[in-house]
Amino acid sequence: MKHLRFEEFTSFETYIFDCDGVIWGICEEDTKTSVATVNYLLRLNKRVMFVTNNSNKTRAQFVQQLESKGVNFGNRSQEQKLSMMISASYTTAAFLQDSGLHRPFIITSDTGVLEECRMLGITDYFATITDDGKPAPLFQKLDMGSAADVIKQNPNVDSIVVGWDMQLTALKVGTAVNYIKWHEDLHASEPGYKEMPLIACSGDTGGVLGKTTHLGKELKLRAIGNGAMADIIARSFDPPKVWVDMGKPSDALLLLLRSPHAYNVDLNKALMVGDTLQTDIVFGNRGGMNTLLVLTGVTSQLELDEELRANGPGLRRPSYVLPKLGSFVDSGHIARGDKV
Ligand SMILES: [Mg+2]
Repeated sequence: MKHLRFEEFTSFETYIFDCDGVIWGICEEDTKTSVATVNYLLRLNKRVMFVTNNSNKTRAQFVQQLESKGVNFGNRSQEQKLSMMISASYTTAAFLQDSGLHRPFIITSDTGVLEECRMLGITDYFATITDDGKPAPLFQKLDMGSAADVIKQNPNVDSIVVGWDMQLTALKVGTAVNYIKWHEDLHASEPGYKEMPLIACSGDTGGVLGKTTHLGKELKLRAIGNGAMADIIARSFDPPKVWVDMGKPSDALLLLLRSPHAYNVDLNKALMVGDTLQTDIVFGNRGGMNTLLVLTGVTSQLELDEELRANGPGLRRPSYVLPKLGSFVDSGHIARGDKV
């Protein structure tokens, strides 16, 4: 790993920032210096993008969240701001639309992915929450046997989408498993049969909800990731099913970034900044980007050290590491509270 000099940090054409653990979901002071750094790059007229594996909110809501933290988009239009933000809620909805899947069963506890679906004309979904974000009445019962009633009342599902569900239950998992299995049992012998696709909004094994103190030591509070939730369904089959990943580090997302018809990013001139080896750093390295790991989120210094010792060079090795995105504010290279 190379030491990242300030001149080098500012030499890239495009900057792709992860959000959770880099810009927010970290202490307030770190958010301030992260935002000052982003604003500094915007002032240099660098291309700045935000790519989050979070599917809980819409792109518009994430843009609003960035603005509320102090990111200054200058006089960009709403459309231009949206084009700087890629969220798993959006990539999932776009994938469904491209694939002609219009009747997904969506497991989620937040409305982001539902709203993005509606904006792309996918309105015939069946979800574990109502459109206003309340738990769907059908899933109030907790016994797995209710899956039969749930499916019989909503028979026209063509795909399974797994978002982040804070109220994931065996009934929801069982409903997804039986949708896939019944589809197979009923239709596998028909010509042109295709398996019901299992789509994960992201493949994260985990996340970080914050910090707490236990037995005198400061510890990170870990969260179950979207990928781990999709794995519960996938591993209910033998052999396990394979889910399609809509987030980092998927090929689908790299193609979208690279494509002249979509984002048209020259990845060789881009810096991917993230807090997670498994998603952000692997994504950047697979795409031929330079990668910067910041230690304010999921991956700790200890985990990084172990990774480097165990595996040496590889997709999980970042080009650079900084304690946090705001490190160049702390070093005096970038002024605090820098505005565009
Ligand atoms: Mg993150």
